[in-house]
Amino acid sequence: MTSVPHSARGADALARAWSVLESVPDPEIPVVSIRELGILRSVEQADDGTLEVVITPTYSGCPAMAHIAEDIAHALERAGLTPHRIKTVLAPAWTTDWITDEAREKLRAYGIAPPGGRCAGTPAGGSEQAIRFVARSAGSPACPRCGSAHTERLSQFGSTACKALYRCLDCREPFDYFKPY
Ligand SMILES: [Zn+2]
Repeated sequence: MTSVPHSARGADALARAWSVLESVPDPEIPVVSIRELGILRSVEQADDGTLEVVITPTYSGCPAMAHIAEDIAHALERAGLTPHRIKTVLAPAWTTDWITDEAREKLRAYGIAPPGGRCAGTPAGGSEQAIRFVARSAGSPACPRCGSAHTERLSQFGSTACKALYRCLDCREPFDYFKPY
């Protein structure tokens, strides 16, 4: 029998923290996790044994960020991973390019057109600016339901400021488009 309490110390704690945090969903889009969205940047162990969780907010002023920090704290506490602290890092700024391919598929299945702008065709060595320019000039998103490219924007803002409201001209369904950022 061991009397060692659950603690955040040890290499094992880092692995456990990652697996706990990988299951923390985004408050607005529960089908994707904060890791898949690129909000969770790193989990490290400070010299005093405290777990340091680094997150980068998505859109500035996104009200979900306070929830995310709370959810992280609760998840770690439930797993006995204390002490911990959550650091918010603003630079480099979050971009939709950090959203994993897996999460893009989940967004589509959820009815949200994933952000355009991941340029597979961008030559290696192309400058960051060139990549971003191409990303921003991406055309209308494809309908997440029927895949049609015939879509029109109804509103700059969808269910949240992070998204725009579009409508498919083929299946006539409105959908949210996760704006590239
Ligand atoms: Zn459609």
